[in-house]
Amino acid sequence: MRDYFLTCTGCGARYLDDGSRLQCANDHAPALLRSVYPQRAFEPGAAASMLRYSQWLPGARALTTTARTGVYRSTALAAHLGLHELWVAFSGWWPERGATLPTGSFKDLEAVSVLRRLEPSDTRTLVISSAGNTALAFARVCTENDLPALIIVPLTGWTDVMAHTEVGPSVRVVALADIGYEETIAFARDVCANSEFILEGGVRNIGRRDGMGTAMLAAVEAIGRLPDYYFQAVGSAAGALAAHEAALRVRADGRFGSRLPRLMLSQNAPFTPLHDAWQAESPVLLPRSAETAAAQLAGLGAFVLSNQAPPYAPAGGVREALIESDGGTYAVTNRELENARAIFAELEGTDIEPAAGVAVASLTQAVRAGNVAPDAAVLLHITGGGRAALPIRGATHARPTLVLERRELATTAVERARSLLR
Ligand SMILES: [Zn+2]
Repeated sequence: MRDYFLTCTGCGARYLDDGSRLQCANDHAPALLRSVYPQRAFEPGAAASMLRYSQWLPGARALTTTARTGVYRSTALAAHLGLHELWVAFSGWWPERGATLPTGSFKDLEAVSVLRRLEPSDTRTLVISSAGNTALAFARVCTENDLPALIIVPLTGWTDVMAHTEVGPSVRVVALADIGYEETIAFARDVCANSEFILEGGVRNIGRRDGMGTAMLAAVEAIGRLPDYYFQAVGSAAGALAAHEAALRVRADGRFGSRLPRLMLSQNAPFTPLHDAWQAESPVLLPRSAETAAAQLAGLGAFVLSNQAPPYAPAGGVREALIESDGGTYAVTNRELENARAIFAELEGTDIEPAAGVAVASLTQAVRAGNVAPDAAVLLHITGGGRAALPIRGATHARPTLVLERRELATTAVERARSLLR
């Protein structure tokens, strides 16, 4: 049963959700769809997991989970930064803090939500392209629920996937050798030209964003109101848009504050397409040659932030969200992110992923620059961490189901991927 509908942020068109729609059918400039739920009041349910926020999740399939973001008020890092009210939303593995994301990253939230959104009668194989953490999250939840998935990753990301989960027979992993994240996205689209596949669609999938939006909802529940600032590192920026959309829903309730959290988004220098466009006050992403992008990406400490085409300009996208929330952007070097990871581990007591280090470093920058008032309610989203304590370890000797070479992409690659289902 679906009690919500989809609306186009470009033209306002409405759609009943078929579980997999990624865009508006009308002919106009790119625009994201958003889900609109009937319940206006924010009333968490009884579930211990993220499903306590199912009033604002696109549920069609009954799929259970234990995953939930843990939110707590920091003392040590807050004192170090000179902040009076610093809240940490920990989307990783840290049960002592209430964080129970089984693969240690916020991608667990989106995988559960995307799969719950799919039509129960849909037997097509879901195709997911990922640089690492998304692949890991989908591999795990599809394995646990015996759901068909074809996961496409750069070969360099394969080891990361296997280190933290087992991969069952319903999940096929295609690894592309010598290929970056952008080409895995293009290959996923090619594969989905065939009717037995269904494209997951990344940031355009409302299931993804609403699932990740539960981190903001958990924070509002813990704080008792909307925070003043929201800090997160961004690649595709799906998580930041998710937080913004969740905040819009909470604001509409009326009891949790009337001001949207200011989105403070950070990227890993030197590859900072969103930061560059925002700082230049450009309405679109700035042009960047393939050579420049490749050179910048090669030195990235937080490889998961390597998305080259985040939805900055589209309606419902990053630029609109930054304007609407009076937000800002930050660029963080590898040295800064490593320092921040070390400080977080020392002061707060657990390991965090490189991208989360970018977020911590951006908060440090913002405080030093005087951009955040000391008594403001600040929400810091740690989008991955606690992996050192993860109970599940994969079989590191396992191989991808199929490894494809770059030269095959234009010829036999799609057919070889299709043959995995037969
Ligand atoms: Zn439209």
